[in-house]
Amino acid sequence: MKTAALLSKHRKSQQLAPVLYEIGIELVEIDFFDTDQLGTFAGEVERRLSPSECALVKAKKAAELSGLNVGLGSEGSFGGGPMGGLLNWNQEIVCLYQQAPELIIYASAEGPTALRSIKADNLDALISKMSDFEQQRWIVRCADGILKGLSQTEVIALHQAAFTEWPVVLEPDLRAMHSPLRQIMIQKAALNLAERLQSRCPHCDAVDFWPDEREFGPACQLCGYPTNEVKSLVTNCKSCGYKASETLLETGNERFCDQCNP
Ligand SMILES: [Zn+2]
Ligand SMILES: [Zn+2]
Repeated sequence: MKTAALLSKHRKSQQLAPVLYEIGIELVEIDFFDTDQLGTFAGEVERRLSPSECALVKAKKAAELSGLNVGLGSEGSFGGGPMGGLLNWNQEIVCLYQQAPELIIYASAEGPTALRSIKADNLDALISKMSDFEQQRWIVRCADGILKGLSQTEVIALHQAAFTEWPVVLEPDLRAMHSPLRQIMIQKAALNLAERLQSRCPHCDAVDFWPDEREFGPACQLCGYPTNEVKSLVTNCKSCGYKASETLLETGNERFCDQCNP
């Protein structure tokens, strides 16, 4: 069994370790490095690096601090996504960094998430809205500062006072150990990492042989013009350059054609 170090203040090894153990990697969690200095969800520390860059910095730091050859870093982000703000979107990245021979793998998972801020006009509404998010912890911003990691019971206690000013806005605490919905997405990213580590180039046997590229534009079945659909998935070996392409659509649908359906 190989050993890898994970840099996390927020107990992410609970999501990553079981998945990686299945493929022969034992995880050691390093929690004494303050990852918050790289940026926080609540905004006290601005995020200057992209999520991928940040995950790589954490992975390298994990290897350095543990003295192990392999380090892991994980970083999540909210917002964006294909539905353009209609749905809240969560992306989780897990980066693996191996010092020698050098290897960097970015695994990820993304999808819509129900997590959002909630606004309530009274205590009953507040309780009812929080109950949609079991075990999720909350953030309350007040004049004195930010209260983080509040359980439902703590939020209720805090808003029972007669002087509570309604409406009240709660933000979800997005740190991994406080957000069950995020934990599910982190676990999916861990699964993607496990799959990438097991997916090897047929030419040179390098790992991370994964279809990261898409080719668009199959010929429209009516007019032959390239449509906006994904035509094929392309896998490029990062070691030897071997390329494989898997065709998803031989012809395009006129509904996605700018000529037939402008
Ligand atoms: Zn190869
Ligand atoms: Zn067409």
